Amino acid sequence: MSTAPIEFPPPVDSAKEFVGAPTDPDDERIEVGVVIVGGGPAGLACAIRLAQLLAEDEALLESLGEVPIALVEKGRTPGSHLLSGAMMNPSALRKLFPDAAEGDWPTYGTVDKDAVYLLTRRRAFPLRPTPPPFRNHGNHVTSLAQLGRWMAERAEEAGVYLLGETAATKLLVEDGRVVGVRSGDKGRGREGEELPNFEPGSDLIAKATVLCEGTQGHLTGAAIRRFELGSDDPQQWELGVKEVWEVQRPLDRVIHTMGWPLRLGARYREFGGSFIYPMGDDRISLGLVTGLDYRDARFSVHDALQLLKGHPLVAGLIEGAKRVGWGAKTIPSGGYWARPRRLWAPGMAIVGDGAGMVNVPTLKGVHYAMHAGMFAAEAICERLKAGGSCDDLSNYADKVEGSEIDRDTYRSRNMRQPFAKGFLVGGAIANLMEISGGRFPGGRWATHDDATVDVFIGPERDYPKPDGKVTFDKLSSVFLTGNATRDDAPNHIRLQERVPLEVALMWQNMCPAQVYEVPEAELEAARVDGRLDGKREVNLAVIPSNCVQCGAITAKGGRLTPPEGGDGPNYQTT
Ligand SMILES: Cc1cc2nc3c(=O)[nH]c(=O)nc-3n(C[C@H](O)[C@H](O)[C@H](O)COP(=O)(O)OP(=O)(O)OC[C@H]3O[C@@H](n4cnc5c(N)ncnc54)[C@H](O)[C@@H]3O)c2cc1C
Ligand code: SF4
Repeated sequence: MSTAPIEFPPPVDSAKEFVGAPTDPDDERIEVGVVIVGGGPAGLACAIRLAQLLAEDEALLESLGEVPIALVEKGRTPGSHLLSGAMMNPSALRKLFPDAAEGDWPTYGTVDKDAVYLLTRRRAFPLRPTPPPFRNHGNHVTSLAQLGRWMAERAEEAGVYLLGETAATKLLVEDGRVVGVRSGDKGRGREGEELPNFEPGSDLIAKATVLCEGTQGHLTGAAIRRFELGSDDPQQWELGVKEVWEVQRPLDRVIHTMGWPLRLGARYREFGGSFIYPMGDDRISLGLVTGLDYRDARFSVHDALQLLKGHPLVAGLIEGAKRVGWGAKTIPSGGYWARPRRLWAPGMAIVGDGAGMVNVPTLKGVHYAMHAGMFAAEAICERLKAGGSCDDLSNYADKVEGSEIDRDTYRSRNMRQPFAKGFLVGGAIANLMEISGGRFPGGRWATHDDATVDVFIGPERDYPKPDGKVTFDKLSSVFLTGNATRDDAPNHIRLQERVPLEVALMWQNMCPAQVYEVPEAELEAARVDGRLDGKREVNLAVIPSNCVQCGAITAKGGRLTPPEGGDGPNYQTT
């Protein structure tokens, strides 16, 4: 019998701990019109669209006080915590900036050629014609970290107050309605004690609160529990690890691969693939994405990506090249059925990845996040104009329902689930779904919580030894992100630190940033007749300052909470 991580739940009750009434005295509360949590594509599109609408209605703008729109971002700047592939469908950017020429967007333009390969260890078999989910004609190659910075400038020009280095840590609820958020304290020591530079957080009180926290949203999860917004189908996640390389020769096509280094057997449940996108003539973006319902505790997405770079197809592309960027992040992949049943609560809306708005087979979420952000802005303005209360934001949900977000994700609603049967069976069923336009397999295929999938210690993996040129260890990868989290900051990872070895090893290998370590002495003690006893309980060492906030631990049995604002990576090109 193997162990499922869910048997060791994190010591946290998010609906109680992270939701509560304002605590600042009335005269110390910061009053704003609308508060947006998260400066990703969803939050920035929401902020810019709101500013555009308020610019057309002076009376409404004035009614929202001195700070009509505030956007709270935990990264050093908007963009610092953004990471994506990213082939971006341009429909949302066109809608948001109708007067901007596409040539002025901070993207790397479109790419005409696509290629998809099924990999074995040495060979690459092209799949022709390119399967529809991998066709990217008209989409723009984008660095989300760069797009975020550009959109933040547009937002500030439009009058949005950006509060960078600020984590929203508590959802403020009074009389059953959301009235804002509380920002986190700064300057606490490892045990929570106040250091000389201590600054307490503040209550930000707003007429409407828009949660655009992206994947594994801290307040989003708490709000879904507090207001019972969740679906009966649990959300699932994939973890993506990405590198940016400065290359000698330009790449002329968008490449996706399936198969190796993921194992096809149903026993391992390794679902996913890689992407290789040209970023202009001298850079490529290279990443590997894997479902977090895999089973082998020795599997590591970071190390599988290092292995992938040794494949002749990839090695040729990065010959003589230099790695200039690295990062990791999760993607919600439960699809249509796993999205929250309701996208709003009185005074609050949930937008983008936080609401699971991702088309899984195409791995697209940027334009949905932006469209949904704009819908939330429009819905809030409609309510404010009609009398000032945002208690009923069902008009936001109606807009999402009538849009491409619902249409596209409904079409691929049962695409991810069959992969629980292994790559080959799952792939065959997913193909039938694609060919039939989403009609087969019909019905509602259940999703499952990644943490309920039991894990075991598989055979030793042949991950390459880091050479510092092509292959890297996790710590040098984290270093490249500009991560500057204090070593003595409070531990923001909640999890049980004494667990069976198979769970501990799974966390150690899953984390792309080397936050968890099973001490050597614990490993030795668990060795019986040369084999590791996965059931033996061990103490796990946790180094939270390495964390790049990818969110994987929340999917796999722990809980990521936001560290102090400004901590974590400072992504530039991801
Ligand atoms: C490896 C990978 C490849 C992908 N490839 C593609 C692709 O090719 N095309 C595509 O369209 N999509 C792709 N996606 C998905 C896409 O990136 C997301 O759907 C999109 O970024 C979602 O936007 P968002 O604004 O909802 O969330 P995010 O982009 O995650 O932004 C959320 C922001 O909120 C901030 N935040 C979160 N919580 C708080 C808090 N409590 N307080 C303050 N700030 C907070 C975060 O720091 C972050 O800046 C990919 C994703 C990954 C990980
Ligand atoms: S500790 Fe941080 S980097 Fe590691 S898996 Fe958890 S969220 Fe990701």
